[in-house]
Amino acid sequence: MSAGVPEKRFVIAIDGPAASGKSSTAQWVARRLAFHHVDSGALYRAATAVQLDAHTDPERWAEDEILAATGRIGFVPDNGAFVPLIDGVSADEVLRGVEVTRNVSRVARMPRVRAWVNAQVRRASESHSVVVDGRDIGTVVFPNADLKVFLIADPWERARRRLVQRLGRSPSDAEIAEETDLIVHRDAKDATQTVQASDAVLIDTTYLTQEDQVERIVALAKAVTHRADETSAG
Ligand code: C5P
Repeated sequence: MSAGVPEKRFVIAIDGPAASGKSSTAQWVARRLAFHHVDSGALYRAATAVQLDAHTDPERWAEDEILAATGRIGFVPDNGAFVPLIDGVSADEVLRGVEVTRNVSRVARMPRVRAWVNAQVRRASESHSVVVDGRDIGTVVFPNADLKVFLIADPWERARRRLVQRLGRSPSDAEIAEETDLIVHRDAKDATQTVQASDAVLIDTTYLTQEDQVERIVALAKAVTHRADETSAG
């Protein structure tokens, strides 16, 4: 890079519904491209986790109260990803827990919480090329992202994958049915903010392995960076 010429930073947006494999795919794509992974859902989860510490009725949670509690949350680069810290400590297990998952959609519907998350995510992209996953990354957060991908998969398959990840074994049909029910309800709660950008590449992962999804996105990213190189070369 020549002095004074800012290095081009890339933004890859990966959106899609719950358990569509966005985060693990985004993490893997980021590693392949030596970009940083930014999981926007983890910030909504962190805001929910700090509010849960107040032990008040979630039905009565107020936006101001939640925004005040977000003062405890940091968002820092660590080993190829931006991770939320609560009081300076990683809280991944709590963030993935049942209580947070049950209440996160109500927090994510609050406009000023969304603005807080979006500011954190945009700040991360100022210092690094990033692969960001979420629901509205290609539409609201980065409408000019270099590459936008929207991942979908059949709800039954999303439920099965989530259970395999959680239980470390093949789930029964009854277990998958129960998880499918939870997933379609979360889809409904998140529907307004889960939007496919008109210029996103839609990938249905129902019959794809994770390796295949990652390969496709990496190939798309290479096409985009190649086009950017050609454009800057004139
Ligand atoms: O992706 P994940 O399941 O961790 O996201 C948790 C919740 O955060 C979602 O159910 C949704 O309510 C919210 N979310 C959002 N917009 C994003 C990312 C997540 O509303 N960009």
